[in-house]
Parts: sequence; C-alpha cells; structure tokens
Amino acid sequence: MTQATANLIQRIGVIGGGQLAWMMGPAAQQLGLDLVVQTPGESDPAVAIAHSTILAPVADVAATNALAAQCDVITFENEFIDCAGLQTLAQRGTVFRPGLDVLTLVLDKRHQREFFSRIGLPNPRYDFLEGDESEAELAAKAAAIGFPLVMKTRRLGYDGYGTSVVRDASQLSATWNTFHQAPVLLEEFVPFKQELAVMVARSAAGDVAVYPTVETQQVDQICRRVFAPAQVAPTVAARMEAIARTLAEQLQLIGIVGIECFLTQNDQVLINEIAPRTHNSGHYSLDACATSQFEQQLRAVSDRPLGPTTLTCPQAVMVNLLGLDAPEDSHHRRLEALKALPQSTLYWYTKGIRPGRKLGHITQCLGPTEDPTAAAAAIETIWYGE
Ligand code: ADP
Repeated sequence: MTQATANLIQRIGVIGGGQLAWMMGPAAQQLGLDLVVQTPGESDPAVAIAHSTILAPVADVAATNALAAQCDVITFENEFIDCAGLQTLAQRGTVFRPGLDVLTLVLDKRHQREFFSRIGLPNPRYDFLEGDESEAELAAKAAAIGFPLVMKTRRLGYDGYGTSVVRDASQLSATWNTFHQAPVLLEEFVPFKQELAVMVARSAAGDVAVYPTVETQQVDQICRRVFAPAQVAPTVAARMEAIARTLAEQLQLIGIVGIECFLTQNDQVLINEIAPRTHNSGHYSLDACATSQFEQQLRAVSDRPLGPTTLTCPQAVMVNLLGLDAPEDSHHRRLEALKALPQSTLYWYTKGIRPGRKLGHITQCLGPTEDPTAAAAAIETIWYGE
C-alpha cells in the first residue's frame, strides 16, 4: 500500500469493547485515529473511549456490516466471533486485520496445534477426540499421550475455563462427560519450569516488531502476575523471538499476536496457544515499553510504521486485580492503598465487581537491583491479603 492510501486509514472498527479496547483509547487519540466499537453492553469499558459505538454482541454479523460501513479497517479485541458469517463481508471488500484466516485458525485449538506442527514449531504432544470414540479408543488415545494429561475444549476456552487435568485412566470418561463428549484436545501435561509469553506485531509491509519475552504466572489457571523481562537464558529469549517471527511471517499477520509458551525443565520452548490480539501478558508495555501493545496494534492495522518495543525501565512487574469475595468498598480501599506505591500505574476497568473477574491491573517499574518477586508480593498483599 502506498503512503497516500495509508494516510486514508483514519477510522478503525474494533470488535469487542472490553478492557483491551479501552486501553487502545489513549493511543488512538495520540495517533489521531477514531475507534468505532462493536460491543453488547452500554457500560462496557471501551464505550467511554469510543468515537461511537454499535451496541451488539461481538458475533452479530449484521452489526459488523454496519460497523464496516463506518470504518476503513476492522480489528479485534475479542475473537469469539462468527468467522464464517464475516467471510461474506470480507468477500464484499471489508478489510479485517488480522485476516479472517488467522482468526479461523486461532478459534480452534485443533487448528492451532496442527498449524504449529505443520510449520515445525514444537508444542505439547497432542491428540483429539471427535465425540464418537468408544471407551477403548478413548483409553488408547490417552495412553499414547500418558498421564497426567490435559483435556481442553477446542473452542471458546479462556482463563482456564474449558481446561481439565486428568490424573489417571480412572478419571478419563468422567472428565470427558463434563465436556458432554464434545470434540476436545488431549495433550500431555507439561511439568514446566516457567510459563513464558511474547507479543509480536507485523505490518502489511512485512515489518515485524517483537516485544521482550516475559514470564507469566497463573493462579487457578488465570494469569496473576507478569515479570518483564523473563529471567531466562539468552538462548531461550532468542528462541522465543525466533518463534514469534516465524509465527508472524507464517500467519502473514497484520496486527498483533500474543504467544503463550511452556519452558520445560531442559529449557525447551513448547507453544501452548496464541491469541490474535493484544494480550494480558503485554499490559506491562503500557508503562514499560517505548510503544505499548495497544498503540502497536493500531499502528499495524492502520499502516503506520511500527514503533520500537524496547523496555524503558530495567524491569517491570504487572499484577492482575481480580474481583474479591468482599464488599465493593473493600475493593476501593485496596485501590487507594495501591495508588500510594511508587513508580506504579493503576488501571481500573470500571467493570461490575464479581469475584474472580479481571477488574484492573497495576504495573510497577523497577530498578536493576530491585526484587520483582518481592514487588509482586507486596502488591498482592495489598490486593489479595486479609
Ligand atoms: P485458556 O485457553 O483457557 O487460557 P490454557 O491452555 O492457556 O487455557 O491453559 C490455562 C493454564 O493452564 C496455562 O496457563 C497453564 O498454567 C495450565 N496448562 C494448560 N495446559 C497445560 C499443559 N499441557 N500442561 C501443564 N499446564 C497446562
């Protein structure tokens, strides 16, 4: 695309109006872009920063058609869309970035795994259940993977919903029954040393920008804290960067992708899954990178040059603030205490408070000798402590 046409991209449609779209707001303003958001709820976070809103579920194709009529390009903050339905719009000229082929692939864990294997990227040993297997076939597939194993729904899983660990053969059928014998992914349980993540953006011109590799730590399968950069051997960081570049190229990505990996005990990197959008593991970039992941997504999809991804402080820690089983005023008291922390930025998504819901996050930039584990623990004591 020439510079002249690039300048025409001015209004960006965003499917999904949660916190990821909300955090695009300041970058959109800085880049002089208007965001038009398709989201079901009037009180969804991004409604507050949108130039205008189409109030409709993210999978409502007719609403996306109306969105397309107002926008130069459509991007995603939520991938739980109707890919097949959107194909009709794409055929009529609507530009989706990333493209619908990327979304189709990512929406199904089976397609993801087969893609990783096809392009030679290591991932946990896996197999699938289609739903018509006999008890004997089920047992044979599980035995080939070995126990413990992990059973995952192929579509619409998030934050560990739709993921179950099966400890031994005796739990196999019962666990599959909890999935209503729907098609699932079976995979080896990886006794990982660390979980790592990396963000990568790619422009239509083929420029690629890779962020530093971070360590993510989950509690009850939900991301609790992120350390940037990950404390890993340089060879591991280089491997993560190579994986990110390969994925961006092979997907022919235009936009940004989050990549989640396991680091095995012998420093092998296995890809767990990818997300076709900004990602919780990249929130630290708002305060600790030269270009935030949100600005980068907007740059990539609007044909603006990608920005530098370097850290602007020696290290940073991000802690997710999940809803507590406590009254609302207890949340607000804790927020006030967090505001007193030095070199920290607090993001509160103004969503309804529910136990376990991602309500906000805080990022603290740290000096070279500060202990990131202690910094995260101090934050968590304020938020999650008695
Ligand atoms: P979701 O799509 O719901 O986010 P994930 O596949 O990312 O599900 O799983 C959530 C978490 O569960 C992971 O971050 C990891 O901590 C754990 N997990 C998932 N798969 C495995 C596995 N094969 N081995 C060990 N732990 C796993």
